[in-house]
Amino acid sequence: MGSVAKESELSVSKKPVAEPKPAAKADSAKRGAGRAKKAGADTEAAPKKTISPAQQALIKLGLTRDIDLALHLPLRYEDETRITPLKNARDGDTVQIEARVMHSEVQLRPRRMLKVTVDDGTGTCLLTFFSFYPSQQKTMAVGACLRIRGEVKGGFWGRQMMHPAFRVAGGELPTALTPVYPATATLPQAYLRRAIATALLRADLAETLPHGEQPPVAQFYGQNGLQPFYDLRNALTFLHHPTADVALVTLEDHSHPAWQRLKAEELLAQQLSQYEAKRERARLRAPVLKPLADMPDLTQQFLAQLPFGLTGAQQRVVAEIRNDMERRIPMHRLLQGDVGSGKTVVAALSAMACIEAGWQCALMAPTEILAEQHFGKLVGWLEPILGPLGKKVAWLAGAQKKKERGEMLALVASGEAALVVGTHAVIQDQVQFKNLALAVIDEQHRFGVAQRLALRQKLAATGLEPHMLMMSATPIPRTLAMSYYADLDVSTIDELPPGRTPIVTKLIGDSRKDEVIERIAAQVTSGRQVYWVCPLIEESEALDLSNATATHEHLSEMLPGVMVGLLHSRMPTAEKKAVMELFSAGIMGVLVSTTVIEVGVDVPNASLMVIEHSERFGLSQLHQLRGRVGRGAAASACVLLYSVNDNGRLSDTGKERLRAMAETNDGFEIARRDLEIRGPGEFLGARQSGAAMLRFADLEQDVLLLDWARELAPRMLEQNPMLAARHVSRWLGGKAEYLKA
Ligand code: ADP
Ligand code: MG
Repeated sequence: MGSVAKESELSVSKKPVAEPKPAAKADSAKRGAGRAKKAGADTEAAPKKTISPAQQALIKLGLTRDIDLALHLPLRYEDETRITPLKNARDGDTVQIEARVMHSEVQLRPRRMLKVTVDDGTGTCLLTFFSFYPSQQKTMAVGACLRIRGEVKGGFWGRQMMHPAFRVAGGELPTALTPVYPATATLPQAYLRRAIATALLRADLAETLPHGEQPPVAQFYGQNGLQPFYDLRNALTFLHHPTADVALVTLEDHSHPAWQRLKAEELLAQQLSQYEAKRERARLRAPVLKPLADMPDLTQQFLAQLPFGLTGAQQRVVAEIRNDMERRIPMHRLLQGDVGSGKTVVAALSAMACIEAGWQCALMAPTEILAEQHFGKLVGWLEPILGPLGKKVAWLAGAQKKKERGEMLALVASGEAALVVGTHAVIQDQVQFKNLALAVIDEQHRFGVAQRLALRQKLAATGLEPHMLMMSATPIPRTLAMSYYADLDVSTIDELPPGRTPIVTKLIGDSRKDEVIERIAAQVTSGRQVYWVCPLIEESEALDLSNATATHEHLSEMLPGVMVGLLHSRMPTAEKKAVMELFSAGIMGVLVSTTVIEVGVDVPNASLMVIEHSERFGLSQLHQLRGRVGRGAAASACVLLYSVNDNGRLSDTGKERLRAMAETNDGFEIARRDLEIRGPGEFLGARQSGAAMLRFADLEQDVLLLDWARELAPRMLEQNPMLAARHVSRWLGGKAEYLKA
């Protein structure tokens, strides 16, 4: 099964490492750092800190409680329950043999190695070791009978094994398969096996499911009552030490009932914590946002001066949001809509509702450029309406002059600023709102839990919580929404504004870059504008920059008479602003940039997006970038330049992503495929950092189990709160709190 298996699980590793310390140490490791330190202090004259590297490695993996270790499942298994006669071992088989040493010698050329020939009566095999201890050499002395385990290679010179595991023959064969855990040099296999086996015996695995509430596992495997019953204890015992007759494939694909049981429990823990969060939120209070009697109808004024009418989808989500804000429970709503679907105007209308009720609204965006764009747009839309009421839109950003910042803070504190737009600066401590009632977070996945919490604190003095509207252009596939965001209400804009022409996406090898540049020239000549995005090279911002700079020079040279600008994250804000202004005004024909333009920028005249090294971008990121064009009525295109690796090939995931991009413009479909390619951990971005991600369950595959957990969780919280609490703490430990933010 595991192609991932590490070599270090073998008893002779290629580099000699310290022999694993025997049992006693394993004990203290499981009880976590504090305990481990104490254990060290007990031994006489021990230095202050005696946490072994293996213990440290366990702690680093979060394996501190018995239950954590018990839930640390094998990567794969080895079958040591059988002895295979050598004559039956085929090339490539991993087998266990018992054989006598016929010959043993240390060769020095071409390098030092130990060569041992063994014979089991049915055939012979040559064992080779490049590193070995004298003690091991002794164990393999001529005449010794050994139990040996390794992969057989049947070359021209007969059978061979490289670095097999071995020990003196004899002793009973185990009845269960041997677990192989993900080991490292500091966390040796033998140590892990012992630590986990002990933890499994000691962990509290008492049933937490209410009586009669079994997950729908048996119905997949209902074998006339012969199926053993798997509660948590049985399931874990089995998965660590399965009987040799198990169909390995059911362990690999997690379809075995023991796996099913585990996944069901995991999903239940997650649902319980989400429902609990929702219930806690329902106990909180928020300002009830109903229009004040003496307030003119700002919403009507706003809609009347808007140069377009709302789409049906926009009207629907605005109604959903306004309805939430009229209740005294804080809104906790995600507004999802594809790039270009018009979320900003929805945010503005939500702000209007808040202002009409006499409260303040804050809008926060992840980058200064994006925040600035929002600010510009919202000032244009709102100030004509707010002005007569003596209200303003305030701006807060990190790179602000002290004086300006002071003025803005005063506007916010006095309540004169009805709307505050900015970056992270909005949530800093010095920012005192008079009466914040609504916080809008754009591109919410780029913010962390801590930032959402900080926003919620802004109203703490009154004992109230602001309403929260989180916006995202990365739609969450349904199964994920049900599972990770069970405590979140979701509004979806599923319709683009009219008059958009679909974006044509082309995959082009970067050897044809010149053709692409010709195309750029044609676009610019016809009055259109072009983005050229260079990839982020994670390890090196400097390299990143030099790429973008070189590209900028190259394009400037190739496109005489065209203004080519450069934008990257290291530039001073003022310079960035100046470049953006030239591009927005249509004076600059081509904008070369690193991924700083990723989110939000809105220049409808731009009609061509070129993404260099597109194979290095994530799918959602590509989709976001592509969404920068196709915002006006002109036909737009996105060129994904890709380069192949040294073997002349694209990686499989790279290929999959680019194919997905060429095949669909639909953000929901893109998100679905992205999830498929990356898995929920990476997909969810910021949230994952603190959240206990699903380790075992697969949302697509385990829909039946998810349904079961979703149905049971609220009932269990109601009827068996103690069991529910135990279940959650067993599975999520301290992480449960974090999930609620
Ligand atoms: P996103 O959802 O990606 O944030 P924006 O709010 O930036 O999208 O909107 C994209 C563009 O569409 C903007 O130029 C915006 O003014 C325009 N727009 C929004 N709603 C409509 C509509 N109902 N009709 C026409 N254009 C619209
Ligand atoms: Mg936007």
